[in-house]
Amino acid sequence: MATIFTRIINGEIPCYKIAEDENYFAFLDINPVKKGHTLVIPKVEDDYIFNLDDQTLAGLTLFAKKVAIAIQKAIPCKRVGVAVMGMEVPHTHIHLVPMESEGDLNFAKGKLKLEPSEMEAIAEKIRKAF
Ligand code: 5GP
Repeated sequence: MATIFTRIINGEIPCYKIAEDENYFAFLDINPVKKGHTLVIPKVEDDYIFNLDDQTLAGLTLFAKKVAIAIQKAIPCKRVGVAVMGMEVPHTHIHLVPMESEGDLNFAKGKLKLEPSEMEAIAEKIRKAF
């Protein structure tokens, strides 16, 4: 069965999309730890980032870099933090999180619950900067 992220790529489940190319896709995390928290995924399904073939992993990293640059332009922050966990969704994803301090990358802290209008406004800002 397709992963929830493949269903997002296919448009079966809505998302706040940031960017897409032939092989990769980026969209806002539905439960962000910070405003602008974005997920970057390969279109190919693999549960574990280090199972990806070299070319796919390299391409994912370069696509994430472009998204991170757009996030930093759109959302004031010191830098964009990177995390890979995959404890919840079995489809490789890179978390990109706008950071002001080290604690901003603590996923055990509470998540934000933003209104759809605010999520869309954030996505639009990042899309424009991409
Ligand atoms: P992880 O697998 O890295 O531990 O966490 C999965 C991440 O995916 C979480 O931050 C969670 O909020 C996010 N997530 C789970 N389901 C969905 C979804 O349906 N849509 C979006 N946009 N994010 C999701």
